[in-house]
Amino acid sequence: ANVPVIEDVKPPPPPLAGANVMNIILVAAECAPWSKTGGLGDVAGSLPKALARHGHRVMVVAPRYGNYAEPQDTGVRKMYKVDGQDVEVSYFQAYIDGVDFVFMDSHMFHHMEQNIYGGNRADILKRMVLFCKAAVEVPWHVPCGGVCYGDGNLAFIANDWHSALLPVYLKAYYRDNGLMTYTRSILVIHNIAHQGRGPADDFAYVDLPEPYLDLFKMYDPIGGEHFNIFAAGLKTADRVVTVSHGYAWELRTSVGGWGLHGIINENEWKLRGIVNGIDTKDWNPQFDVHLTSDGYTNYSLESLKTGKAQCKAALQKELGLPIREDVPVIGFIGRLDHQKGVDLIAEAIPWMMGQDVQLIMLGTGRPDLEQMLRQFESQHHDKIRGWVGFSVKTAHRITAGADILLMPSRFEPCGLNQLYAMSYGTVPVVHAVGGLRDTVQPFDPYNESGLGWTFDSAEANKLIHALGNCLWTYREFKQSWEGLQRRGMTQDLSWDNAAQNYEEVLVAAKYQW
Ligand code: ADP
Repeated sequence: ANVPVIEDVKPPPPPLAGANVMNIILVAAECAPWSKTGGLGDVAGSLPKALARHGHRVMVVAPRYGNYAEPQDTGVRKMYKVDGQDVEVSYFQAYIDGVDFVFMDSHMFHHMEQNIYGGNRADILKRMVLFCKAAVEVPWHVPCGGVCYGDGNLAFIANDWHSALLPVYLKAYYRDNGLMTYTRSILVIHNIAHQGRGPADDFAYVDLPEPYLDLFKMYDPIGGEHFNIFAAGLKTADRVVTVSHGYAWELRTSVGGWGLHGIINENEWKLRGIVNGIDTKDWNPQFDVHLTSDGYTNYSLESLKTGKAQCKAALQKELGLPIREDVPVIGFIGRLDHQKGVDLIAEAIPWMMGQDVQLIMLGTGRPDLEQMLRQFESQHHDKIRGWVGFSVKTAHRITAGADILLMPSRFEPCGLNQLYAMSYGTVPVVHAVGGLRDTVQPFDPYNESGLGWTFDSAEANKLIHALGNCLWTYREFKQSWEGLQRRGMTQDLSWDNAAQNYEEVLVAAKYQW
């Protein structure tokens, strides 16, 4: 495909010192390890730590869905209006790895632990209204280490539609009224497919004066005229970041922008793609706490061969598959939905079952796809495990024990599993879209370069072709295989680079270049 290169909006960064040391508040609906449904949780749990290592004062604000162990009640109580009702909010705080993790408590967040985006549309919207209204004032009200952040030199990083109201409230309630004039907001797009769309009447819930309605009004051929929270956030944020260069480009197309491409193109000057990093403490085969029992073992580049073989045997044993070192184990981890291309794997199963392979799939999501996983397992019990569930431990163990990770996503803003896989010496086979295209350079047997296999359209025969080449290399070219593993493991996938890029965006927003 003819992919134009996105010119980054990137003025020369002033040195990080004095005035450029900022107060940064990342606001997200989920934050690992306390709450996580996907990549957003991982990012909210790890990017802030990297920003703190760069010398900034950094806070995360997330809802308190359950009784978390470390965070303590700050005693602060505030009231906010949601749909005409006064709702009380309190705050719990813990200082961990240089970051203030602040959890917003309210009856509206309770009982949501199992399904944090559950409930009907109005309920979800009301939760997000409360969350964003209160989050803007956290720097005024919630002391961390005895002192509030205040609104000087302050930037918010909001994430996805759930916190896209934050830039809107910052503008409408404060900046347009001469308050928080120097506070900036960045909105990060992790997935444009969810936008907080609804009928125009939803405007009543967000509790804003009439002139702000235009920010939310959207028209597209599918939804007609409607109310759109992401649209308003994109218009009002000072900067917009998305989680890869490939996705930044796709967002500007009618297919990739999911109806918001017009707004994204109008605001293209403030858009930048920054590939996510990974938490190299949690996701590191050398220190992974999930590999310390049940026959698994920690391993590194030096002990790759024996360590990974031991993890593979432990995984086969744990799942009751034949324990064989020579059979390639293929893994899949992810939400079971159209995005992740599980149906392409399904189409490829007859071919796969003609190969000497083992396939291990872990995921939750659409009931019909969950049922399909169970069915695969019962039909091919000697070769397939279809684990329906959300298990962080199992995700780590598959990442360590598998030889190959499949990611046939139809679209993938960044994708974290391929990054985790590579750092564990597990070779990715991916559809070349979004962040997958950015991060998995295709294997070139002539130069012994590259990191995995890619295929250029979301079709089962393309997947089969790429996976076939991968399996052939696995079986016939041991040295090439080891080269792939080692190149994957020696990349710097940490957050440090990405944090520096975020820093540049924050500083650019501060001076409004
Ligand atoms: P997305 O955010 O679109 O779901 P990502 O690849 O960015 O996809 O991140 C997914 C994260 O969620 C990874 O940390 C992955 O390991 C985790 N994950 C997804 N499904 C499961 C599951 N069933 N059990 C445990 N972890 C899961």
